[in-house]
Amino acid sequence: MLVKVIAIANQKGGVGKTTTSVNLSACLAELGKRVLLIDIDPQGNSTSGLGINKASIKRCTYDALVNDVPLEDIILDTAVPNLKLVPATIQLAGAEIELVSIMSRENKLKRVLDKVKYSFDYVLIDCPPSLGLLTINSLTAANSVLVPIQCEFYALEGLSQLMKTISLVQKNLNPVLALEGVVLTMFDARTNLSIQVVDEVKNHFRSKVYQTIIPRNVRLSEAPSHGQPIIKYDARSKGAEVYMDLAREVSGDD
Ligand code: ADP
Ligand code: MG
Repeated sequence: MLVKVIAIANQKGGVGKTTTSVNLSACLAELGKRVLLIDIDPQGNSTSGLGINKASIKRCTYDALVNDVPLEDIILDTAVPNLKLVPATIQLAGAEIELVSIMSRENKLKRVLDKVKYSFDYVLIDCPPSLGLLTINSLTAANSVLVPIQCEFYALEGLSQLMKTISLVQKNLNPVLALEGVVLTMFDARTNLSIQVVDEVKNHFRSKVYQTIIPRNVRLSEAPSHGQPIIKYDARSKGAEVYMDLAREVSGDD
């Protein structure tokens, strides 16, 4: 199987990018895929969500982007077999500005990733909540974009800006970039609003919307503080079940 590089992006914060990155990665690994998760958000929530102690990190995504350090010198093992991580620390916050003056600044991630990506079946990139150079690097390195949308008022607001950015990247930097799919997150079946948002998003994105809808699930919000993906923290939870479903849908292993 040829490697697929998927950027998990939405410039809105708190929509489920990191939760989806960590758990989809772990579930794909559970299905036997070789997975690399790249944390490119200075907040490093995917990194701590996988139980990596930030104080122990010697090199992170920053070094790959700004100092051309090969990813093989940065990649860490995680507690999940088959799942490896390129960690992020707050140092990465400087990259957004430092990259501005660097040649082919939009291609930095692609160039380092191209050297290691064929060792994996999936590479997922957890993007920051902005459309700056870190997200542009992710979209340039990716084959496709997976967009988490929170089932909340204003769910679709700002998405036209994301779509515009995707088409600019297609035009100028990465012609093969595709929309992988849209995943609805934090669905609450008890509210009309959630149901309305699902309808609206399906009307807009049609067949691009995954059948699997991620409900609000307390176990999913607890897992990061234990440094574990949901399938390790509570394999019997609803959250584990739905992210396994999503992994099957994304990989086509139904
Ligand atoms: P982003 O990376 O887009 O900023 P996160 O994945 O960090 O979003 O999610 C924002 C917050 O919502 C986090 O505290 C996370 O634990 C919580 N959360 C995300 N998805 C769910 C869910 N399905 N059920 C309950 N809490 C969730
Ligand atoms: Mg995040």
